[in-house]
Amino acid sequence: MSLLVFHEARVFDGEQMLAGPRSVVVRDGRIERVVEPGELPEGLLAEARASGSLIQQPGATLLPGLIDLHLHLIWDGSDDPVRSLALETPEQTLLKGVGFAATTLRAGITTVRDLGSVHDQAIRLAEAVERGWIPGPRIIASGRSIVMTGGHDPFWGLAVDGPAEALKAVRTQLFAGARVIKVSATGGVYGRPSGESVDDVELLPDELRAIVEQAHRRGVKVSAHAIGQQGIQNSIDAGIDTIEHGHFLTPEQARAMAERGMALIPTLYVYQCLAESPNIPAYARAKAREVIDRHQQAFTDARAADVLIGAGSDAGSPETPHPALIEEIEALVNGGLTRAEALRAATADAARILDLGDEIGHVRPGYRADLVLVDGDPTSDLTALRRVRRVAQGGILRA
Ligand SMILES: [Zn+2]
Repeated sequence: MSLLVFHEARVFDGEQMLAGPRSVVVRDGRIERVVEPGELPEGLLAEARASGSLIQQPGATLLPGLIDLHLHLIWDGSDDPVRSLALETPEQTLLKGVGFAATTLRAGITTVRDLGSVHDQAIRLAEAVERGWIPGPRIIASGRSIVMTGGHDPFWGLAVDGPAEALKAVRTQLFAGARVIKVSATGGVYGRPSGESVDDVELLPDELRAIVEQAHRRGVKVSAHAIGQQGIQNSIDAGIDTIEHGHFLTPEQARAMAERGMALIPTLYVYQCLAESPNIPAYARAKAREVIDRHQQAFTDARAADVLIGAGSDAGSPETPHPALIEEIEALVNGGLTRAEALRAATADAARILDLGDEIGHVRPGYRADLVLVDGDPTSDLTALRRVRRVAQGGILRA
């Protein structure tokens, strides 16, 4: 019987900041109760104190462990992560990912979605965390993404042409252990130096439909890299679950997404990095600058239509070192969310997007005790998120 008591802490429960201080009792990996400090039985307090499992830190806030819905653990966030990969052996790349997984967990991020890795390495990282071999967040990984021949992110893409090959690729990834399927519906900003545009439609409607149909049949969601308008439309029509980036989303498309319960992971921060960093190749910086205002407009339209928004940092991408979720939460606030809404996008709403809304993302009785204690009140000052004091994963303290 393992016990952990966070005593007299502010609590952001995944939806909102609770009115007064609370004491949160964790037993055997789950949150047992969330009570006013005075309601905590004296005996329980004494038991926690005697066993060294009482955590009491004045001024601290307890939140659900943070969730990053879009990152790449085997990318190093340097100016050119693709070049880094080319200079490494696969073992070195994987070991680097082991380090980034630990860094991510220490930052209070207890669940991530990894949307692209060479040799399905993020799936191996996910297994290693699950088996307790390495410290890291729970990883929901796609491994290789599914792209058209010559499509966006070819270095970790499984190239397919036609619905039959698309179907085979989904089955291949599911067999490899993928818990999410990632596709490229359009070209990208940081793609090939020439011959790749964000407006390019890549996987075709019938290919996307074949992928979604097969993945959903197996209970797995599909995430689409989609920047240009037609690729976004194809993704909506095919029944994709989450749109990544979504720069050219129209108000009408936003309404369609909301109606179908689709989520947008805007990844605002990484495009600001691409647009601003002097280390980024000129062609990519120019493309990022061209689309950055459009990105903000799409985000505003998505909010107006009540599209479910999730926080995803794209950490590991060019000039976006691990971890970058706090920066993305800040970008979401700069883009128009309240601080509480942005925190929700990285906790309760993110859990909902993963279909784990009954398991994680909340500080409530019955939920898994993935928790982070930070110094300060992040609903009034986001820098509190950088002052991580404790991280619990399934009720076990990791930091
Ligand atoms: Zn990405």
